[in-house]
Order: sequence, then structure tokens, then C-alpha cells
Amino acid sequence: MTKIYAIVNQKGGVGKTTSVINLAANLAENGRRVLIVDIDPQANATSGIGIDKNDLERSMYDLLLEESTAVDATIHQEEFRLDVIPSHPALAGAEVELVNAIGREYRLQKGLDGLNGRYDYILIDCPPSLGLLTVNALTAAKDGVIIPVQCEYLALEGLTQLVQTVELVQKYLNPNLKVRGLIMTMYDSRTNLSRQVVEEVRRYFPGKVFRTIVPRNVRLSEAPSYGQPITAYAPKSPGAMAYKVLTAELIKGDKS
Ligand code: ADP
Ligand code: MG
Repeated sequence: MTKIYAIVNQKGGVGKTTSVINLAANLAENGRRVLIVDIDPQANATSGIGIDKNDLERSMYDLLLEESTAVDATIHQEEFRLDVIPSHPALAGAEVELVNAIGREYRLQKGLDGLNGRYDYILIDCPPSLGLLTVNALTAAKDGVIIPVQCEYLALEGLTQLVQTVELVQKYLNPNLKVRGLIMTMYDSRTNLSRQVVEEVRRYFPGKVFRTIVPRNVRLSEAPSYGQPITAYAPKSPGAMAYKVLTAELIKGDKS
């Protein structure tokens, strides 16, 4: 059975795209068949995995407007042994174009249905908002959401609203939706603040925070400009180690 997760947080810059790319790359290294689905018009996951967003025949835009199947919109990245449904800046307009469309919240789910078990994991990279694109991702994410949280002041701000949105989508659109886990990102071991934020989030979401914490690591921020996951760019870096262990934790939790 394919596991489908949406990586979501309406705050920008918390590590959504970094987590999608590096979880996907590690899942692929573990022999899993992986698809990255980029539903953020900024297309950072697309470019971060080495695909030129300005040179696409088909993208998420065409999928949501039902002008392409998921299979036809998929690009195979042989180098990292994973597949990508790329995003495109035109996707920013889809939110408006779909406003009156029938079944507008289900477009992604319907599209991914056509993949018929080709993948073990599908990871959806969401934009920094709770609009229709994110709602499409939440509706398609049959196995839940993964929420990256940056270890900084006011980390919890916005999470109440995010949880409310998850509950609304669960009630009306996707009865199986749940919070699969929270990833603490950009942890700085030199500060008390990072430690306090982790404790606070653990208290707020008991049992839901992944044990593996992702440190602040400059290698992780450099890798996307080379179009590479950390497994290729700096496999021995602390950031690479963290995502490797985090991936193992995810796989283990999915088995039990
Ligand atoms: P989002 O997708 O939530 O907007 P990103 O994954 O793009 O967030 O991360 C925001 C910025 O922080 C990017 O420049 C990224 O390279 C950088 N970054 C993400 N995680 C880390 C980390 N653990 N250490 C250092 N830089 C990071
Ligand atoms: Mg992003």
C-alpha cells in the first residue's frame, strides 16, 4: 500500500521542502519507490531535486486542471532513483482558476489515484498557506500530515490554526487524515531556546514529535542550489545523518 503524506505548515521557511527532498532521497536509498509531489508554486522541491521548472512540458498545474494524468506529469530523476511531479509558477493562478470548479478540493487525490500503487511513498510539498492548494494536499494525504516546526521563538504560533484546518479537512474531505508526526528543524544546540521549544512542542503534541531532531546545518541549505539532496551533496554532514535517522524512524513507525 502506498503511504501518502503531506508535509505542511503555513509558515514559510520552517523546513518543509528540505524535509520532503531529504526524506524522499533517503527513502529511495532504502529501496522504497518514491514520488515527490510539488504543489507549491514556488517550485522549490522541483528545482531542489535538479529539475528546471522553466523547462517543463507538464506540471502540477496541468494535473489540477485535468489536462494531464499524474503518470504523464511525472519526471524520473534517475540520479536519485526517485520520481517527481514538478510544480510551475503558473500554479499560482490555479487557486483562482479552480474557485468554481466541481470537486476542486479533490483534484490532486483523483490525479494520484491514477498511479495505482506504483509507489511505496508519496510526499507532497505544500505552499506556505492554508489555501486550496494545501487543502488539495490534505485531502490526498490518506496517511496523514507531517509538520516541520522550526526551533525558534513563537514556533507554536500558527499550529493551532493548522490543527483546526486538519480537523476540518478530516471532517469534510478526508476521514483518515491525522497528524503523523512533527519534525523539529534547525535545532541549535548552543541555545537554551532550541531546547525549550522542543520541550514545549512535545508537551503540546504528546507522542507526536519525531525523536530525531534536525540540527541547523549549513550543508542542508547549500544542497538545493546544486539540485541535490543531502545524501548526494554532503552525505557525512550532521544534516545528512539526521535525515537518514529520521527516515529510519518514519519507516519503522509505518511498519508497526
Ligand atoms: P519551507 O519549505 O518550509 O519554506 P525550506 O525547507 O525551504 O522551508 O527551508 C527554508 C530555508 O532554510 C532554506 O533556505 C533551507 O535551505 C534552509 N534550511 C532548512 N532546513 C535547514 C537546516 N536544518 N539547517 C540549515 N538550513 C536549513
Ligand atoms: Mg518550501
